[in-house]
Amino acid sequence: MSRKHKSSTIAVRTGIESDTQHHAVVPPIYLSTNYGFPSFGDVPKYDYTRSGNPNRGLLETALFELESGKGAVVTNCGTSALNLWVSAFLGPDDLIIAPHDCYGGTYRLFNTRAQKGDFKVEFVDQSNDQALAAAIARKPKLILIETPSNPLVRVVDIKKVCQQAAEVGALVGVDNTFLTPIYQKPLELGADFVIHSTTKYINGHSDVIGGVVVTKTEQHAEELGWWGNCIGATGTPFDSYMTLRGIRTLGARMRVHEESSQAILNFLQSQKRVKTIYHPSLPDHPGHEIAKQQQSGFGSMLSFEFDGDIEQLKTFINSLTLFSLAESLGGVESLICHPATMTHRAMGEKALAEAGVSHFLLRLSVGLEDSGDLIDDLAQAFDSVEG
Ligand SMILES: *Cc1c(COP(=O)(O)O)cnc(C)c1O
Repeated sequence: MSRKHKSSTIAVRTGIESDTQHHAVVPPIYLSTNYGFPSFGDVPKYDYTRSGNPNRGLLETALFELESGKGAVVTNCGTSALNLWVSAFLGPDDLIIAPHDCYGGTYRLFNTRAQKGDFKVEFVDQSNDQALAAAIARKPKLILIETPSNPLVRVVDIKKVCQQAAEVGALVGVDNTFLTPIYQKPLELGADFVIHSTTKYINGHSDVIGGVVVTKTEQHAEELGWWGNCIGATGTPFDSYMTLRGIRTLGARMRVHEESSQAILNFLQSQKRVKTIYHPSLPDHPGHEIAKQQQSGFGSMLSFEFDGDIEQLKTFINSLTLFSLAESLGGVESLICHPATMTHRAMGEKALAEAGVSHFLLRLSVGLEDSGDLIDDLAQAFDSVEG
């Protein structure tokens, strides 16, 4: 598809009318694990589904075109996308720099593999210029950025880190799960890779686990494709079909997610049980100016510090009816999460404290329900805390 099209158009149109057999408007699903060789020695485009499949191929095309990349490898989850990336590029003597407040599973993956001696890792507060410069001076091979970060939505200046990385020959990957290419295009800001948990906004319906690594160069796509097949990290045809179906509405969904999160932010600012609110759209958020430069929207993940004791916090959460207490994010349904005991519990108390994740921090994934209903629900839950 031509690059002149906007994201929403790419999301809707990729693969439409591509069926040459029956002219199905929506591309059909190919569940077959294997494909015939036309004749002896004549290797077909697809031979075995671990290495390639038409549905996964279409999803990869949609994702790399959305991210302005040259190639992509779709994996069975976001974690395996990150694992594929480090497996392909890191050896025992190589260093990766990752954010100190990265997704809990990413922290666990890098930490565990580093302890086994697979590679070296340093977790750094990437919004601290000095700490970042000191880490980059160690000549890392890879740098992972997660912006906005999870769960404190800290913003990292992608362009600046990419410039510093280039000076030491490091490759930069950006976990773009929170904003999607609708609101942020890291490859256009100088990054070499974009990584997604497509489980979140990209699929958007909380019914498929998936991931992707998108590359800026064809060569990196080829290398990652080889590794994806080698270690068996690739996504299934059915998941790929479902995720492409989810992507069709990505542009429209992201718009409504964001509108509703703005309404909820306004509401939260007037609540006495709400202490600090974390969202890049707030002028006093430390990443507000950078977010305005590198993002085309502020996104809809937000978190806040609850003012009260743990019993009151429990009452608040248990009183909500439209925010499900669950991990994950980016689906049509609204969620509330207590990172310290849920998504980020694998980090342990020390790392949680270092990352600034307190036991009173609550994270909201604002869904697509009516925003007035969501605000009413939050209001009655705050009321029930007062007894
Ligand atoms: C969920 C998530 C991941 C991991 O993805 P899975 O699909 O759960 O394996 C990685 N990064 C971020 C930012 C996430 O939110």
